[in-house]
Amino acid sequence: PARPLPTHAPMTQFAAADGQLLIGGLPLEHLAARVGHTPCYADDRALLTGRVGELRAALPAAVKLHYAMKANPMPAVVGLLAGLVDGIDVASAGELKIALDAGADPHEISFAGPGKRDGELRQAVAAGVLVNLESFREVGVLAAVSAELDMPARVAVRVNPDFELKGSGMKMGGGAKQFGVDAEEVPRLLADIGAAGLQFEGFHLFAGSQNLKAEAICEAQQKSWALARRLADCAPAPIRFLNLGGGFGIPYFPGEQRLDLAPISANLAELAARTATEMPATELVIELGRYFVGEAGVYVTRVIDRKISRGQVFLVVDGGLNHHLSASGNFGQVIRKNYPVAIGNRMEATGRETERESASVVGPLCTPLDVLAERMDLPAAQPGDLVVIFQSGAYGASASPQAFLGHPAVVEVLV
Ligand SMILES: *Cc1c(COP(=O)(O)O)cnc(C)c1O
Repeated sequence: PARPLPTHAPMTQFAAADGQLLIGGLPLEHLAARVGHTPCYADDRALLTGRVGELRAALPAAVKLHYAMKANPMPAVVGLLAGLVDGIDVASAGELKIALDAGADPHEISFAGPGKRDGELRQAVAAGVLVNLESFREVGVLAAVSAELDMPARVAVRVNPDFELKGSGMKMGGGAKQFGVDAEEVPRLLADIGAAGLQFEGFHLFAGSQNLKAEAICEAQQKSWALARRLADCAPAPIRFLNLGGGFGIPYFPGEQRLDLAPISANLAELAARTATEMPATELVIELGRYFVGEAGVYVTRVIDRKISRGQVFLVVDGGLNHHLSASGNFGQVIRKNYPVAIGNRMEATGRETERESASVVGPLCTPLDVLAERMDLPAAQPGDLVVIFQSGAYGASASPQAFLGHPAVVEVLV
């Protein structure tokens, strides 16, 4: 018997009414009129708020939630999340500015990244945020800046662990990496930090990203905790923060299912209990990017042309990889797969017969890489219709080459 083809996880986070997808409660055509421009990204405020609430309800209360804002640095989104989560993780002085403007508490901002410039480190110390040290060089710069500003730099050590996160979309720890300091070098770095008089506050471990396997995430958390526990014996001060990383994935492609939080919650509860007895001054932190924002956002483009080439339907839309590199398959994917896609003004309505067809959605750029959907089963669409790419709230506009081919910039709204 033929096995059924894998399908996308249902995008039930968005309702539809009268054939229109609802974003922030607004019918899509109405929203497009309000924005006044396609293409646009729209993030749903209620879904963002709901996601934080669901995580808080699912995970132990002792675990602090940080938002890794590189996933979606739109100021309105960061402003909303800053009021909901426990801290913001930034990776440049530019992101630091957005987080501070959003009203995030500097004590709960941490700054990571492999190539922090001297000027960025100076800004971080002046702002009073925690710097996740990623090299021996940064100790010297921070010591000089601390003396100059008469403010001791708050530092944690980002550890490149001696293990990898299994089944991760992007590995960012283990083996030889540009991120963090190799675990075996950390005792020497801790001695330097003590000698330089920096204010040591904890460890940061981030093994990888986009993981849908709860067991793999639990295993990485266990190993990270054990490594930090060992390294704590060499630390110049008690550990106040232990950032165990994140890596929680969301379903993008056919056959992928939503992450099961229950085993992760049980695992974190066990680690929180051990922390309370063995490292009582320590707060456990997890940092998530796409898990907070990815499912709450859509990318909306309008069909400019409908072409048929040798029997295949192409819907040519007004934006593509210039705004949404991830959905085109060119942001880390090895094999191109389709994001979930809908014709947002032709959503299935009960009792209405919708003609369906196999169609490819391509952008207006003169490159064969500019593909948003390849041979998908979609309601038959015409010029003027709105194509929606789901799971687009993370790694969208800010992760895309907007200047490529000189098309208009995308508009981003929080609804
Ligand atoms: C990118 C990054 C994140 C966020 O990753 P997501 O997959 O979006 O959750 C978290 N921490 C660090 C250190 C990162 O570099």
